[in-house]
Amino acid sequence: MADFDVDLFVIGAGSGGTRAARIAAGHGARVMIAEEDRIGGTCVVRGCVPKKLYVYASRFADDFADAAGFGWTLGEARFDWGTLRDAVAREVTRLSGLYRKGLEGAGVAVRTERAVVAGPHEVRLAGGDTVRARHILVATGGYPAFDPPIPGGELGISSNEVFHLPSLPKRMLVVGGGYIALEFASVFARLGVTVTVLHRGDNILRGFDEDIRTRLRDALAHAGITLRLGCTVERIELLEDGVRRAHCASGAPIDAEVILVATGRRPNTVGLGLAEAGVALGPVGEVIVDANSATAVHSIHAVGDVTNRINLTPVAIREGHAFADSTFGGKPWTVDHHLVASAVFTTPEIGTVGLSEQQARAAGHELRIFETGFRPMKATISGREERIYMKLVVDAQSDRMLGVHILGHDAGEIIQAVAIAVSMGATKADFDRTIALHPSAAEELVTMRTPRAG
Ligand code: FAD
Repeated sequence: MADFDVDLFVIGAGSGGTRAARIAAGHGARVMIAEEDRIGGTCVVRGCVPKKLYVYASRFADDFADAAGFGWTLGEARFDWGTLRDAVAREVTRLSGLYRKGLEGAGVAVRTERAVVAGPHEVRLAGGDTVRARHILVATGGYPAFDPPIPGGELGISSNEVFHLPSLPKRMLVVGGGYIALEFASVFARLGVTVTVLHRGDNILRGFDEDIRTRLRDALAHAGITLRLGCTVERIELLEDGVRRAHCASGAPIDAEVILVATGRRPNTVGLGLAEAGVALGPVGEVIVDANSATAVHSIHAVGDVTNRINLTPVAIREGHAFADSTFGGKPWTVDHHLVASAVFTTPEIGTVGLSEQQARAAGHELRIFETGFRPMKATISGREERIYMKLVVDAQSDRMLGVHILGHDAGEIIQAVAIAVSMGATKADFDRTIALHPSAAEELVTMRTPRAG
């Protein structure tokens, strides 16, 4: 293919793009990747990684308080925002450097500039170069969208900026009821900020199991977060002293130093030249792909958030890997998008895999529901008012485990292991046969005997 400069041009060095580039290069392909921001993408730079580090930081206050019940005497605890922010920023820089090294070590040519599609086999770089590629992979991810637009919305910040706040505000408004909004609400409330969540829906976390949604809502309220549900923010205004004021369609206006707008994300396809090249886009600008991540143009594929399938890092990575193996490794395979476990790193956190009770009923399953709620052992002595909730959604006819939902400490860690069993087709009898590990919270998953009545 002498008339192509590279075998693969990857646009976007995030989770999906870097994996695809490295694997393709490992299969012997000549690969170039372009990144307009920092190598590593959303997850590493302004998503999962810095967020989880903030979550850890936010949970120390509970640990200090709990320690007293176990006999510890600690000095006065003080938190310094700048120390945390800068330490997290350094870790992000370290990781971004590792991502670059990984690419270069695999023989991938890295260009740190914006790239757009100029034709089925052509990519144009912001610096003016044009590269002819046998294959193009679009892995441009998504961006925070103020959706619907709020007049005065520019007075708010998105999740991109929240990692760089110059100081910790006294009060924060979080607009949105999805996982990103709630994770930040939980983090900042635990760091001592007075947090109010403004959400237009009548409950948080649309799409999650109803029992989990309601219990998390109550737990967040118990943790001191004010939840104003059914509140559509109509406009934001700036007051004299730099304070922002949010006006809801109903109820009193509410003031804060920082307003975080986390109302959703959109695929990053604006100005990318895709439609002009013949690639079909969906209603929110997502690249339409088939099971092989192929677009309507045979030489252009797309993976990750830009396709708006399941917007999670491990999914983007898997899609990038499958594309590279299939196209350059002679090993075609596709990603199974069913039974992807996910977590919400609020405190308490959620771990979930499979169908919610409502989704399972809507799909026509006759169900047996097992649930338990209990106080974890640690809370008996710490005195913390804390509970763990678990729910098993079981198909009554086949006994198959359709969904597992956990709210409480370490739910994310637990659900990853449970997902293996569920994706192997485990039945309730398989869970019952498994001997409990005592004393643990997770043992409750294998000791629920009686289905919920009704
Ligand atoms: P990205 O990682 O977004 O990478 C796309 C890259 O393309 C970006 O670096 C961008 O700068 C670059 N780019 C875009 N356009 C161009 C262009 N024209 N030219 C050159 N470069 C371009 N997922 C989880 O699994 N767990 C979590 O806990 C989690 N937490 C999250 C928390 C937050 C606050 C956010 C915002 C997201 C979180 N996610 C989480 C989602 C996760 O970050 C994404 O699913 C994942 O990063 C998607 O990978 P990607 O490769 O599709 O895109």
